Amino acid sequence: KYFILKMSRYPAIGIDLGTTNSCVGVFQNGKVDIIPNDIGERTTPSYIAFTDLERLIGDEAKNQITRNPTNTIFDAKRLIGRKFEDLEIQDDMKLWPFKVVKDIKSDRPQFQITYQKNERKFYAEGILSMILQKLKQTATDFLGKEVKDAIITVPAYFNGSQRQSIKDAGTISGLNVLRVYSESTAAAIALGFVKKYQNERNVLIFDLGGGNLNVSLLILEEDIFEVRATNGNTHLGGEDFDNKLVEYCAEEFRRKTGIDIKKNAKALIRVRASCEKAKRALSVVTQTTVDIDALMYGEDLNIVITRSKFEDLCMDLFKKCIPPLENVLKDAKMPKSQVDEIVLVGGSTRIPKIQQMIKEFFNGKETNKSINPDEAVAYGAAVLAAIMTNVKDENIEKLVHFDATPFSLGVETLGGVMTVLIPRNSLIPTKKTQIISTYADNQTSMLVKVFEGERELTKDNHELGKFNLDGIPPMPRGQAQIEVTFDLDANSILNVTAVEKSTGKNNKIVITNGGGGLSKDDIDRLVKEAEKFKDEDKKIKERIEAKNGLEQYCYQIKQTMGDAKLKDKFSEDEKKQIEGKVDKSNDENLKIKKLEEENR
Ligand code: AMP
Repeated sequence: KYFILKMSRYPAIGIDLGTTNSCVGVFQNGKVDIIPNDIGERTTPSYIAFTDLERLIGDEAKNQITRNPTNTIFDAKRLIGRKFEDLEIQDDMKLWPFKVVKDIKSDRPQFQITYQKNERKFYAEGILSMILQKLKQTATDFLGKEVKDAIITVPAYFNGSQRQSIKDAGTISGLNVLRVYSESTAAAIALGFVKKYQNERNVLIFDLGGGNLNVSLLILEEDIFEVRATNGNTHLGGEDFDNKLVEYCAEEFRRKTGIDIKKNAKALIRVRASCEKAKRALSVVTQTTVDIDALMYGEDLNIVITRSKFEDLCMDLFKKCIPPLENVLKDAKMPKSQVDEIVLVGGSTRIPKIQQMIKEFFNGKETNKSINPDEAVAYGAAVLAAIMTNVKDENIEKLVHFDATPFSLGVETLGGVMTVLIPRNSLIPTKKTQIISTYADNQTSMLVKVFEGERELTKDNHELGKFNLDGIPPMPRGQAQIEVTFDLDANSILNVTAVEKSTGKNNKIVITNGGGGLSKDDIDRLVKEAEKFKDEDKKIKERIEAKNGLEQYCYQIKQTMGDAKLKDKFSEDEKKQIEGKVDKSNDENLKIKKLEEENR
């Protein structure tokens, strides 16, 4: 085992931070528990809402969305690692009821909402940290002791900068993120842990959730898990299928009534919610109706959607599921026929057409149904958290897991060429060295630029960082010997060093955040803000509880007043006086409650 084993006072949790739903699990007493939230649900919607009074997280936020669409945030994970101008963000924005604005300082998108009558802006990390805070609390309540350490999963295809953003969100929420793992790796670990295969199995994980597709190919051999290849699409999932249905319904409604619902956030969110329901129904039945009374200007929306219509609307998107399957097999140099298990993970794999397409791709092979598609990732993350915290358990102690890097890493050489040192899908940790040289006579300084990506030219890849190597002795071009070393550790932290061999002059850079993520100042500020929010939430909850208590007390007094034994002890005047006071405080209380409910 090469990863850092760490003893922990706290149980470490595994978190599946999903685009639409999140799930948390913990390994204890020899098994994984998926932790139910405060209303008993095993997954929590990744939704945050802001009202004039309070901040709501999870089910409470999702349930009030039609009343408060512009201040209810979902899909935050889709913003991670993207610039405001990115086409995907611009496209998504058309159908989001909340406002996304550009942060001038960084070109990054920010959610803009109104909270307690003030305008506020949040980066995606800030919103995700609130969801993580809720999951942390869920686990803390369940375990009866504070939880700090966590493994958080991310789409396999997330690059270093996106992974760092998720780590930042964890830090802001008060979690100590031991490591981020790929969701598909976690799902495979779950399968291996449940099935305990005796001989080697080639396992393909096809994970299609709300926002993205992950495809990974792993080899499971007894207690060893090795990620062979991973691929996917960071912008493909159930939300896109919902969008197709919304577009269709909006167009039909416009055709029938001349009314454009896209300009009305409330109408849009009602249509979206109905479309999502219809989509789920179509996984079971072959025809359903999107039915909304008085959607706009008193006009009803009533559209019948058949399963084939839905498939037709989404077919271009469904087809995008196939190239990642092909790529993963190509990268792993494995023919389809050698895949032993196909595991479907994520809510969108319940769509019959997608199941059929995968089955056809594998020439009729059935998929494995032994793990729960909604919980597998959190389950595997909980097992990984137990491994990383060195939990004393026979089954955990013998597990070994090898992870692979999802992108090639390299340096820029003459002509802007990407010279790869660590190819994609290399097992980590790994260390590679390459000699590069000067490209001009008497060149005494060299800029070492580090990139990740698969394209031939660095301009098409993602720059991770750069540094200068000075003091190269003057010599003809191409003669200097500069040894560049890439050292990628188990946490995907990349150390790059460059040494001029004749003088030993050297310089280096440590790339911990894939060139992205938030600055330390930003994180410190957001940590403070998150704590302030938590305190505020607590105070609001206490106030609500106190008011409820008061109301209860008022009712009790009134009841006691009516008690036969006490009735005679008061004069009519005294009774009226007391009742008046009780009614007054009761009315006040009811008024405040009504206001709160309206705001929910
Ligand atoms: P996940 O991120 O795995 O929780 O997946 C969430 C996505 O799966 C959402 O877009 C859901 O609408 C979608 N989903 C959940 N159940 C179904 C279903 N029965 N049929 C189609 N899509 C579903």
